[in-house]
Amino acid sequence: MKVLVINCGSSSLKYQLFDMDGEKVLAKGLVERIGIEGARIKHTKTGMESVVVETPIPDHKAGIKLVLDALLDKKHGALSSLDELSAVGHRVVHAGEKFAASVRLDGKVMDALKECVPLAPLHNPANIMGIEAVSDALPRVPQVGVFDTAFHQTMPNTAFLYAVPYGYYEKYGVRRYGFHGTSHYYVAHRAAAILGQPIEKLKIVTCHLGNGSSITAVDGGRSVDTSMGFTPLAGVPMGTRCGDIDPALVAFIAETEQLSFKDIDFLLNKKSGMLGLSGVSSDLRDIEEAAERGESRSKLALQVLAYGIKKYIGAYAAAMGGIDAVVFTAGVGENSATIRAMACEGLGFMGIELDDSRNAIRSKEGLISTDSAKVKVLVVPTDEELVIARDTKRLIG
Ligand code: AMP
Repeated sequence: MKVLVINCGSSSLKYQLFDMDGEKVLAKGLVERIGIEGARIKHTKTGMESVVVETPIPDHKAGIKLVLDALLDKKHGALSSLDELSAVGHRVVHAGEKFAASVRLDGKVMDALKECVPLAPLHNPANIMGIEAVSDALPRVPQVGVFDTAFHQTMPNTAFLYAVPYGYYEKYGVRRYGFHGTSHYYVAHRAAAILGQPIEKLKIVTCHLGNGSSITAVDGGRSVDTSMGFTPLAGVPMGTRCGDIDPALVAFIAETEQLSFKDIDFLLNKKSGMLGLSGVSSDLRDIEEAAERGESRSKLALQVLAYGIKKYIGAYAAAMGGIDAVVFTAGVGENSATIRAMACEGLGFMGIELDDSRNAIRSKEGLISTDSAKVKVLVVPTDEELVIARDTKRLIG
């Protein structure tokens, strides 16, 4: 059974073709700069060199056509006919409170996703465009939606409500939703498998630290709290996003800098976080290098990030009444031994203790805590595409 996984952004489209017999990736790629100059597709057949083709790509429909052509290419393709494709699975960012699990896409589901556009105005329209482009190109192939928000629908209202007038929740759906759910789900389950314990018995804090970052409390396999909120701006500091701030800052900046809400939204999403603090870059590698050269603001940025992560680990241990494991994943979590060490430093009192040589691992699964530590700390590379492919296979039968 062959399943195509699609992850559409506003001007990009990532894809992976899976053979579900053995869960092998046959080909993958990235379409970039859709609708702008310099558009291109980078396609890689497993085991072969990548090919890059620059060509005008006016919209997502054209992007999907390019992907299908690449998959059918005699030399670099992985399909001899589109009839081999059993289903397409899509990453969809926001399903509001409408879906707590992946679903097969049909007209009713699409209407529900369109209703969620005000909650994710930057992401859902791109996801919807991708689904519609696939429907046009492959009208008979079933499609499945896998939602970033779904895993967090198990949060209790004590964790998801904000202390603002309750009517805003009822009228506008103002609440914490959380994101990266597919990743948190995957790494929590992998951690349980690595530890050889049933997930139902474990209290895990999953730290998805990438360009966007979120931390989740996973109690018995269910998300019970997560650091991102109504939008992906909340939580720990990220590449360019501020994370948790006092909301009164918005009015203060508006008045003192004479900025509009739109300007401030841009400032907090694109100019803040690690970039804003360090003044160097949003990329943690650049900041680590600058800190090693002795640049004090980069050192400080690393400390602020690590402190933020540490506070969430402590808070979620309290929320769950204990903690068995901490999992690090995504670009920073999988690769930065420095951030992992700094975030766990001083947590010996609650049973978290890293082994320095184990902590040196990058981009592969492994235990990084000491043998005597009560709490197991693991690195687990995330694989959201695999979860999407599995859910797609399950729902298509
Ligand atoms: P992601 O959003 O998961 O792709 O993660 C992107 C982030 O991971 C960027 O901030 C990168 O700097 C960071 N990252 C990737 N590789 C490394 C590395 N070797 N060391 C530190 N950070 C890294």
